[in-house]
Amino acid sequence: MTQEESIFNDFTVNHGGLFTTQDIMVTHLRHYFSRSIEWNKEKCIVKRPPHIIFNFIDNVQFGAFADLKNKDYAIIGLYIGTKYLLTDIFNRMLSYNNLFLDIGDASKEILSEPSIRNFYTNTTDLFEFGNLKQNEYYDYFQPIDETRHFFASHLTKLSLTFIFEHEISHIINGHIHYIKTIFDKSFTDNYNAELPLKVPLRTYQALEMDADCSAVNSCTIIAINNSNPNNDYPDKAMKNLFTSREGALLDMFLAIYMTLRLMGDGRYRLEYVNHDVHAPNRVRQVQIMTTLIEYVDYLNKEHNLNISLPYLEAKMYERARECERAYEVITGNTINFDAFNKEYYAEHPLAGITLESWKKIRPDLMEFSFTNLAP
Ligand SMILES: [Zn+2]
Repeated sequence: MTQEESIFNDFTVNHGGLFTTQDIMVTHLRHYFSRSIEWNKEKCIVKRPPHIIFNFIDNVQFGAFADLKNKDYAIIGLYIGTKYLLTDIFNRMLSYNNLFLDIGDASKEILSEPSIRNFYTNTTDLFEFGNLKQNEYYDYFQPIDETRHFFASHLTKLSLTFIFEHEISHIINGHIHYIKTIFDKSFTDNYNAELPLKVPLRTYQALEMDADCSAVNSCTIIAINNSNPNNDYPDKAMKNLFTSREGALLDMFLAIYMTLRLMGDGRYRLEYVNHDVHAPNRVRQVQIMTTLIEYVDYLNKEHNLNISLPYLEAKMYERARECERAYEVITGNTINFDAFNKEYYAEHPLAGITLESWKKIRPDLMEFSFTNLAP
């Protein structure tokens, strides 16, 4: 174990400790996220950020967190269960011959009817059952078509990238130092977290919104950098996936949308406000849509990117619906598609409340942020 791994292991021992099993994607992501830490540090133009240690945790639950070891050391931990769950859900989505028809050759897939044998009925069950790695409860699916299989792991990687960027935003935007100093409370970001009573719920939800928006901005840049109209990847699947900016952004959007989808059962309920440190996932989903469009609009103007916004927006709604449809087929849960028109989204009271809370805490947060905060 390196010194950093040892620090990480000690810090996360109650969560499960350092994940040490060999896993190709995990190895790749460790490397990839360590470069992202450097990139995020470059955004810290206000003051020098703490040293950040990232790794995976040997825990099969769905979760991730950012926290401070001391004022100079920050830790980001991603539960390995998060990777298992995302891999499973994206593999299943692409294993149906009537879903995502524009990806690879869907006709090669054998599933068509909702096939929920041994499948969880909602994500809470999945959290409780937890263990996806060696589990007799679930069937394991994998797309037959190579391009679709590749696309599923591509989406898993993008989802984990979003979660990582969300966590690192909690650090560089000063959230963790803020909570520690003002409320003398450790900031954890487990998705099942009980709310720490000392911190007002609205404050937490506003910080979560800020982390989501910062992560979307980072992911937008990552997606644009992934794309290259003149790419000469010899692998056809790779070539098709990374050709257009719009395509890369839509893949990123789909991955983030599904990630947020998994964090609740997707119902449009206000009760969530009393339990969760995050806003309801519907609210988060609309926030990421809006943020992505606004940021692309900004980048278009700054860098003459010529990304078609009307096309992007229309396709995003299409992807969102497709994603919900896939979730419906996979889990057997019916979705209220009414919740998908813009008006319905926009009127969600919590969207407004969260924004108001954000405006209130922003001046206090500035003292702790290492980077420039959103206006
Ligand atoms: Zn968070």
